[in-house]
Amino acid sequence: MNVFYLPAEQIFGEVGELPEDEARHAIQVLRYREGDEIRCIDGQGGCYEGVVSRAAKKQLQLKITAQTTEEPVQHPVTLAMGYIRQKQRLEFAVEKMVELGVDHISIFHGDHSEPGKVRNDRMEGVIKAASKQSGRSRFPSFASFNSLDDFLSASDSERLIAAHEKVSDEKKQDKFEREQSLSAVVGPEGGLSDREVDLIKENQGELISLGERRLRAETAVIALAVLLK
Ligand code: SAH
Repeated sequence: MNVFYLPAEQIFGEVGELPEDEARHAIQVLRYREGDEIRCIDGQGGCYEGVVSRAAKKQLQLKITAQTTEEPVQHPVTLAMGYIRQKQRLEFAVEKMVELGVDHISIFHGDHSEPGKVRNDRMEGVIKAASKQSGRSRFPSFASFNSLDDFLSASDSERLIAAHEKVSDEKKQDKFEREQSLSAVVGPEGGLSDREVDLIKENQGELISLGERRLRAETAVIALAVLLK
């Protein structure tokens, strides 16, 4: 069943009004009409069931008939990835983090990242689309940082890990227990610098292996995200 994005500020008592782009898609592509049942999420944990009460070209209103709330997780997972310039790869990595259940997504400019700028608006768009597609009623948050240092200063996770291809394969990580909030770091295509590795150690971080092969950054993100959930 299709799920639509209905931000909290578009809900007025029992009536919800979809944002214009969502309304257009619902009406013109998916052919929703008055009286149809509809499901929405607000991105902050709210799920709504309703019935379409008005369907115009770019406007869809619904009468909310049921609401449930998904509580935030107790031990959130943050995944920070080093910036890579290839937009498609970066967006792919972000999309997979959403699907695999990462709670907070960060991109940092690593010492070995190529120059470039993170388009926060694009990332928010990818996160919204992937959240809807994968049925996440609570969208992950997104932040970008100028350095790993800035990311670590802003992090309040209880545990820190970093994937590093130079770590012995014997330290290949099994699944993590979700007993603490956790931040995980994956380097950019050029890898983590020695300085960044030292910084992680200074912050009581653990370096882990994802196996004997050198993975692309986006593959490492997926491999790690699977272990985290
Ligand atoms: N420094 C390497 C490649 C970096 S791969 C080079 O340029 O040759 C990009 C990132 O993916 C790394 O910083 C690391 O975080 C992660 N990664 C890739 N393969 C890995 C492995 N086998 N174990 C742990 N992390 C890995």
